[in-house]
Amino acid sequence: MRILESHETVPRPSGAFSVCVYCGSSPAAPSAHLALAAELGRAIAQNGWRYVYGGGGLGLMGAGALAAHDSGGAVLGILPRFLEQREPPPAHIPLLRVDTMHERKWLMFRESDAFVVLPGGIGTLEELVEVTSWMRLDLHKKPIIVLGRAYWTPFYQLLDHMTEARYMPAGFTAQLPLADSAAEAVDLLRLAAEAVQAPEAAQ
Ligand code: AMP
Repeated sequence: MRILESHETVPRPSGAFSVCVYCGSSPAAPSAHLALAAELGRAIAQNGWRYVYGGGGLGLMGAGALAAHDSGGAVLGILPRFLEQREPPPAHIPLLRVDTMHERKWLMFRESDAFVVLPGGIGTLEELVEVTSWMRLDLHKKPIIVLGRAYWTPFYQLLDHMTEARYMPAGFTAQLPLADSAAEAVDLLRLAAEAVQAPEAAQ
C-alpha cells in the first residue's frame, strides 16, 4: 500500500477525470449491491477515469475499489488514521492518510470531478446530503449521480416532501439524477467528462 501524507500533491494520471464513489462499508450488504459496486468500479477503470473513495476495504467500499484496481484503473483511497482498524484499507491501493473526517470529505470533494452514490448507511447518506447541500448553495456544479433506484426511492420521497412544503425549489431534485444500473451511471459520467474536457479541447 502506498501511503501519501495529506500535504503531498495527489497525482492524477494524465489529468484523468476523477469520480468519487460514496457507498456503504458494511460487510453484510446485500450481494446485489456488492455486485453493483464492483460493476461500477470496473466501468470507471475501463473508461480511464480515476476512482476516488473513502479508503476502506469492507463492504461496497472494498468491492468497488478492488474491482477498479484489478481492472487496471487508478484508485485513490482517503482514510482518517483513526479508522484504519475499523475500516482496514485494501493492500496495494494508494492511500492518502488524513487526521479527521472533515479533511477526508474535503479531499474526496476536491480530488473529484463527479460523484456517484451507491447504497450505503448513515455515513453514505451524510456524504450524499453534504455534497448535495453544497450544490444547493451553488458552491459547486460537479454532477451527483445516485445509483440504485429501489434503494434510494425513500430518499427521493423525502426530497419531494421537502419540495411540497416549499423548503426546496421545484426542479431542484431533477439535478440529482437517479440511475438504475452501472451502465446508466457511466453514460451520465461520460457526459460530465466530456463537459470537463471540452474547454481544454478548445484551447
Ligand atoms: P456507511 O454508509 O455508514 O457504511 O459509511 C460509509 C463511509 O462513510 C465509511 O467509510 C464511514 O467511515 C464514512 N462516514 C461515516 N460517518 C460519516 C460522516 N459523518 N461523514 C462522512 N463520512 C462518514
